[in-house]
Amino acid sequence: MPEQIGFIGLGIMGKPMAKNLLKAGYSLTVYDIVGEPVEELVTEGAARGSSNKDVASKSDTIITMVPDSADSEAAILGPNGVLEGAKAGSVVIDMSSIAPLVSQRIAAECANKGVEMLDAPVSGGEPGAINATLAIMVGGKQEVFDQNFDLLKTMGSNVVLTGDIGAGGITKLANQIIVAANIEALSEAMVLAQRAGVDPEKVFNAIRGGLAGSAVMEAKGPMMLDRNFRPGFRIRLHQKDLRNVLQTAQELNVPLPATALMQQILGALVNEGEADSDHAAILHFIEDLAKVEVKRGG
Ligand code: NAD
Repeated sequence: MPEQIGFIGLGIMGKPMAKNLLKAGYSLTVYDIVGEPVEELVTEGAARGSSNKDVASKSDTIITMVPDSADSEAAILGPNGVLEGAKAGSVVIDMSSIAPLVSQRIAAECANKGVEMLDAPVSGGEPGAINATLAIMVGGKQEVFDQNFDLLKTMGSNVVLTGDIGAGGITKLANQIIVAANIEALSEAMVLAQRAGVDPEKVFNAIRGGLAGSAVMEAKGPMMLDRNFRPGFRIRLHQKDLRNVLQTAQELNVPLPATALMQQILGALVNEGEADSDHAAILHFIEDLAKVEVKRGG
């Protein structure tokens, strides 16, 4: 077990992940630009960091869990950031979902200071973070992965090294294509059933065990039926992920037609004031096209 862990970014995901590390007996110093979750973690036994630099100076391994590429760059490379405080030989594990090319750039800056880096984005949402059942997809050196496997396993049930630095991010982007397209297809199916006068809940129960069934359907179907669009995973974050998918695909000359369409749909939902709704609210876009509202009982 590494001696001291730093944890930066205590939002929907980071807070429960940090709590699981505390529960497992790790010694934690935490920081977020918002004070309230820091206080909560301190109540549960973490030490309070005064900045990202301060956290890094007190830690052997520093985990970051912030929204996007620019936030990871600010937290790690920026003024008062992790690299200003990190000792040579320490390891940065960025678990945020960011552009793989940015992970590679941050890792190169870390290497200049003798600091190792893994990119290790996750899937499984808030429930996965709370229950420590996240899928964790990792890019980096095998020996750095091996050294941090137990730490990552404390937060997830499936921890896989998929390649060099940036490969974790590529894996996460692949994941986000599939999740977005699944939610959109589920929305179309629910709206069709509703308009046809067939109870969407019965449709859900009839097909969930067949070929169409999926983890996405299990997570988002009940939310749609409950009309619960509380995040969860915010539309704005999924829009960010698909932007990173499409930028990466453009660099690699890979056409992704369904992803491009999904990006337009998410953009329209942001204009409708849904940026902070759960991505189950993709349903609203399809409902608006048909002028139908999905509800239990059909
Ligand atoms: P969030 O917005 O709830 O939390 C992010 C936290 O980072 C906030 O508390 C914010 O104050 C903090 N932060 C931002 N910049 C910072 C900085 N420079 N220094 C210190 N703290 C900073 O987001 P989230 O839902 O927890 O998501 C975090 C990452 O995990 C994102 O990349 C997201 O795409 C990914 N993710 C989220 C989910 C989900 O279901 N929410 C699932 C899988 C992956």
